[in-house]
Amino acid sequence: MDSPPDVLARIDRLRRERNAVILAHYYQEPDIQDLADHVGDSLQLAQAARRSDAEVIVFCGVHFMAETAAILCPERIVLLPDLAAGCSLADACPAPALAAWKAAHPHHAVVSYINCTAAVKALSDIVCTSSNAVRVVESLPPDRPVLFLPDRHLGRWVAERTGRPLDLWPGTCIVHEAFSEPALLDLVARHPDAKVLAHPECTASILARADHVGSTSSLLAYALRSDASTFVVATEPGILHPMRRAAPDKTFLPLPGVGADRAFNVCPHMRLITPEKTLRSLETLEFRIEVPEAVRTAALVPLERMLALQ
Ligand code: SF4
Repeated sequence: MDSPPDVLARIDRLRRERNAVILAHYYQEPDIQDLADHVGDSLQLAQAARRSDAEVIVFCGVHFMAETAAILCPERIVLLPDLAAGCSLADACPAPALAAWKAAHPHHAVVSYINCTAAVKALSDIVCTSSNAVRVVESLPPDRPVLFLPDRHLGRWVAERTGRPLDLWPGTCIVHEAFSEPALLDLVARHPDAKVLAHPECTASILARADHVGSTSSLLAYALRSDASTFVVATEPGILHPMRRAAPDKTFLPLPGVGADRAFNVCPHMRLITPEKTLRSLETLEFRIEVPEAVRTAALVPLERMLALQ
């Protein structure tokens, strides 16, 4: 097996030769974040894919993110280093199930969290991310009822923030749903001055104890501008790497999961991506993510509506 420095040197050489850009989500391992050209949340990475003029986009994230890049950038080669990198939220709402839900609610607007398949986006009126979900819902006519999918925790939080009664699909993130409230109480008792940061995919009991709720980029920005020196972080612990790098004098404590061993909740899909698989992607141009053109053009419309709100 290649030593990591050799792998990184070969990635750098191929990145130049292929005119490739490497995008990594905040939930990736630190070594992936460090080799990427852009690191960010779902919205930032979708925008980076669109802005880039690279011929090849290597997406170090999960399948729906690479699909989103393929929808936005049909002329580029979009690669996912491991095809098994999925998402429990995207799996929770298959397109035929959404089609049936829509048919039962013909007057509702469909707001889809970006964590869904291209086929689901194609059936949606507008897409949102955790960065802009409140703004997206507020952009809809106030008297229009809304179907919100697939994450019920994010949907409940958006309903509270907007005062709108959203109909929620019952999907959840396997990572954010499993943070431990007793572990949070323990950490807060031991660090009474700590601020609690939580992603809106967390359960209501975790969000109720948070000082700030927001997307990963919002949690990072809050931690940097806050006067506090200690933070309990209720989202995938990959975000701790950019937090510690940007604020090395502050303390970031990941919130453990509900298991008896109180292990940290890493996303098993995100963590499938490795430097070695990223190198193989650049060498072989696999695994290419393509979206059938009819689905792509239909999915582009709700994505463009979201991007136009930024
Ligand atoms: S952390 Fe949750 S929402 Fe994000 S990719 Fe993993 S399973 Fe999906």
